[in-house]
This record gives sequence, C-alpha cells and structure tokens, in this order.
Amino acid sequence: MFGKILIANRGEIALRVLRACKELGIATVAVHSTADADAMHVKLADESVCIGPAAARDSYLNIPAILAACEITGAEAVHPGYGFLSENARFAEILIDHGVKFIGPKPEHIRIMGDKIEAKRTAKALGIPCVPGSEGGVSTDEEAARVAAEIGFPVLIKAAAGGGGRGMKVARSLEELSSALSTARSEARAAFGDDAVYIEKYLGTPRHIEIQIFGDGRGNAVHLGERDCSLQRRHQKVLEEAPSPVITPEQRARIGGTVAKAMRDMQYLGAGTIEFLYENGEFYFIEMNTRIQVEHPVTEAITGFDLIREQIRVAAGEALSFAQEDVILRGHAIECRVNAEHPRTFRPSPGKLAYWHVPGGLGVRMDSAVYQGYSIPPYYDSMIGKLIIHGRDRTECLARLKRALDEFVVEGIETTLPLFRELVVNDDIKRGAYDIHWLEAFLAEGE
Ligand code: ADP
Repeated sequence: MFGKILIANRGEIALRVLRACKELGIATVAVHSTADADAMHVKLADESVCIGPAAARDSYLNIPAILAACEITGAEAVHPGYGFLSENARFAEILIDHGVKFIGPKPEHIRIMGDKIEAKRTAKALGIPCVPGSEGGVSTDEEAARVAAEIGFPVLIKAAAGGGGRGMKVARSLEELSSALSTARSEARAAFGDDAVYIEKYLGTPRHIEIQIFGDGRGNAVHLGERDCSLQRRHQKVLEEAPSPVITPEQRARIGGTVAKAMRDMQYLGAGTIEFLYENGEFYFIEMNTRIQVEHPVTEAITGFDLIREQIRVAAGEALSFAQEDVILRGHAIECRVNAEHPRTFRPSPGKLAYWHVPGGLGVRMDSAVYQGYSIPPYYDSMIGKLIIHGRDRTECLARLKRALDEFVVEGIETTLPLFRELVVNDDIKRGAYDIHWLEAFLAEGE
C-alpha cells in the first residue's frame, strides 16, 4: 500500500479523498492555489504545497507544478478527484514516467473514452448498446444529411471532445441541419480546440441512467448497479438517486452484466461510469467517464462500499475487495448538489458564509469542504457541498431528505437549497415520474 498520496484537487472531493487516506493510514499532501490557502483540504492534510495563482490553468491544471509537489514531498501516488486533470491521459502518462502512480485507469483507456467518437466505436465493439447515429465523425453537410435521413429527425450534433454539456446542438429538420452543424463545430473548436463532431438520434423523453463499474486491470470487473441522474439543467446533473425508480432487478442484472463483461474484456482498471440514456425499456450508451463521479456517494450508501478506498487499493495493485455476488443493494439514496447559486437564475453567488448549519441524524451525510466564516472564492465550480440521504426505501428517503433540508441553514450567500425544498414535495418527483427534460420544464413554469 502507498505511504503517501498527493491529492490534485480542491473542495469536497479533496476532502473525500483525504478521509479515505486517513482511514487507510496513508499520509496526505494537499495542493492549493493562492486563493485556497484557507481551504479545509489544506487545513486537514498532513502537508500542503502551493502550486500557483487562483486561475485553475495556473494551479490545479499546472502539471509541472503538481509533479514538482510530488517530488518535494515524496508522494508515491496522485489522486486526481473529478474535473481538473482527472481525465487527462497525458497527465497520467507523465506521472507514470516519473515513477508516480496515477490513481485511475490506464492512460490508453482514458484517451479512448475521452474521444466520444472513439468511445462509441469501442463500446459498440464490446457489445454495449449505443444511440443510433453516424459511424465516426461527420464533416460535410452531405454526410450529415445522409446520416439524418437514415436515423430520422430530430438529431443531435455532439462534439467528440465534449464535456459539461457543451458543443451539443439539436436539428429538428433538414433546414436546421447545416447551421446546427456549423454552430456545433465552432462551439467545439472554441471550447475544446477540436471541432470533430458526430451525429446521434435525439431521444425525446429519455432518463439518464449510469452504471458504476470497478475493474482490477487484470480482467476482473464488477458493476455496482445504477444511478438515475435524469434531473438536469443544461445537461448538468442537479439531483441523483440510486437505485433508479424505473429499473427492475432483471434490467439491472442484464445491463450491469453487459458492461461488467465489457470492462473485463478491456482489462479496465479502477472506477468508471458507463452513461446511458434509457427510453422505452432500452439502454443507449452515450459516454464513459474514467474517474470517480460527483454522485458516487449514492452508490456508497446503498452498497456500503467506500469507492475511494477501492480506487486506492486497486491502484496499488491489490485485488477488488468484493465480487459481483457481494454487491447487495440496500435501501434508497438521494444526493442534492448544493451550489452557491441563486435557486432560480443559477447566477453564481460566491462570498462569505456568515452562517452554516448542516443537518445530521440517521441516514444523513454531508460531503462539503466549506465552513462558517469561509469565503467561497469566485474562481471555481459553484458546488459547495452534497447532501446525501439514505433510507430503507424511497418513501423514507424522501421524508428524511425533507426533514434534513428543513434543518439546513445557510446565510451570507444564495444556494440551491430552496429549489430542493420545492422538488422534495413535488408529486412527479414523489412518483419518480421524470425524464431529462422535466427539471427545465419545471423551472420554466415558475418563471
Ligand atoms: P457531456 O459529456 O457534455 O456531459 P453527454 O454525452 O454525457 O455529454 O450528455 C449529457 C446530457 O445530454 C445527457 O445526460 C442527456 O441529458 C443529453 N443528451 C446526450 N445525448 C443525447 C441524445 N442522443 N438525445 C437526447 N439527449 C441527449
């Protein structure tokens, strides 16, 4: 096992990794920007290194500075968290070249899955069902028209390098196709420096269902069931739950079995998530994330496993600590992403947390790195915490969530908590009757 791990991230996920390290008896190194000198992950780590100024590209994305921090502190491995460098194959390779372990998959797998065209081709070859669409990239209007005629309108144009819901454009008719194609291309070029795009059938009322998997890198892999992340705004997840209210145990076993086999065939290492859209009883692969995800705690709640601990173990060359038959789902879990944003306009609301009282009690978990008196810097993601609720069933989970939201008090900044207070008593949410467009329609109604 590693003696010392450097955590190349900030916020709640840096703290989450730090906690797993402490329980494993591993020393921790925090890295931080000048804007994060007072951050909780810095206070709680055994050592800390300032790696640059506030802007992420000069600090949390600064590979030479992070590498230097490893050398100075003697860290044997790096946990990248999510976001920042977590899906940067080059970063993983550079660490490996310098004798530092990357706590994540093999660089070639990060690279394949980071290019969505390549990812879809690979998924298809591994027997995973995909959204109908172009075979590879599409560059001319004629090619786009041919694919659209084949799969039927509406279609979705997506960036090969896409992420965070950017570079996606819907075309509802042949007339809209050419302009959608050029807009998507220029957006993709601006956002990712890569204008490769592909076409998919645009599904009307799907749910977003994703499967958590783990591999040991030597041909053993298991799945940990699904998460339902259909409550989204601008293709960004807002609330996640596990298990999904619409997936049966038979469906779970079937799709879970398919992806676990695919991961065994790939000899995948570490944590990964296979994302699907789900409509009319069918699963359609959209992408794979080769890292731990924000919403991993709902899976931890219903399986009882510590997924960060598992990532560290398999990165150190140990076997998976559970087999498929050890994965038993218990109860129901819901996560709310608490953002420092206005609950209706979603305008970021950084600033000083004058008062911060988090809920507690049975089945209530709060993953956050903020504290009363802390000033939320304006430079990074606006998520300031995740409220994760576990109950014996979905009804108990919702009642507990409502109770926890009532206890939660934040003053000094705006947060998305009032939105969750509305959602938890909504009839559609209570019935689990929502798709990926539900939340935006709900928000539009209130305007
Ligand atoms: P990103 O990497 O930018 O997050 P994804 O491929 O994961 O992109 O898609 C993000 C979200 O966009 C999905 O959860 C879903 O809401 C929507 N989406 C993606 N592909 C389709 C599709 N073919 N039809 C309808 N909605 C889609």
